[in-house]
Amino acid sequence: MAMDCVLFDLDDTLYDQVRPFELGYREAFGDRFDAPAAGGPAGAGAAGGPAGAGAAGGPAGAGEAAGPPDVVALFNASRRHSDEAFEAATRGEISMEEMYVWRLQRTFADFGIDVTADECLRMQSAYAAAQRDAICVSPRMAEVLDWCAARRPLGGGQLLGPGRLPGPGRLPGARHPMGIITNGPAAHQMEKVEALGLSRWFAPESIVVSGAVGVAKPDPEIFRIACERVGTSPESCVYVGDSFASDVVGATSAGMPVVWFNHRRREAPAGPGVPRPEWVVEDEQGLLALLKSLA
Ligand SMILES: [Mg+2]
Repeated sequence: MAMDCVLFDLDDTLYDQVRPFELGYREAFGDRFDAPAAGGPAGAGAAGGPAGAGAAGGPAGAGEAAGPPDVVALFNASRRHSDEAFEAATRGEISMEEMYVWRLQRTFADFGIDVTADECLRMQSAYAAAQRDAICVSPRMAEVLDWCAARRPLGGGQLLGPGRLPGPGRLPGARHPMGIITNGPAAHQMEKVEALGLSRWFAPESIVVSGAVGVAKPDPEIFRIACERVGTSPESCVYVGDSFASDVVGATSAGMPVVWFNHRRREAPAGPGVPRPEWVVEDEQGLLALLKSLA
């Protein structure tokens, strides 16, 4: 296949989002939920379940109170609720603040824990601060990005990188070898781009943020906008993302081949009409090997 460009999701694809999530969680709640609770506030019973013992467990049993939450399970639940609430926030039906409260209250409710709106906002604020101060591109992901940046695809046309930006009149055939499509408020997402030092690999115009363009994943339109920015067509891109609902569903509906970066080992949704990703990888080494095989 012709792979002109590799497009990446940002959150929990280009960096490990559990780390800032855990820092935000610890700052807001400390070890409050670590000891088995006496009396489940959500009325779901089963307080004082088995201690998590720090194991990175599988997906949370939604609706079950099961003792102290495992942070990865908590994070997975928060991503699920975030995807549910994000669209309403983008449409302006709820404020971003309400969205933050909504997703965290539902996340904790999955574990039989009631939290107040103030507590959710405190955690959100600490989480956002950690996303500015405590995130990085792993050496393994840096290897993937280095490889993408070094590619010189066949077929002519000038390849543009961060050091070779096009002028206002775009050069015919000019294109970027890589780009980003991310959902979220423009300023917040760009803070993360800066914190991660992504300008080393990505030209500013190849970074598409939903808050800046007014349309969000999984809407196929944001994938088309990204194609225009990087100078190629959806079928000549490969898209890499961790979220089934935003990334796999969105890229598929835009006609863009997609790699599901399933490093959290989530279960794929099933059922009629649910798209299947072209490829699934579970770590950066698998991703790099796959991209090399497609080049
Ligand atoms: Mg993501």
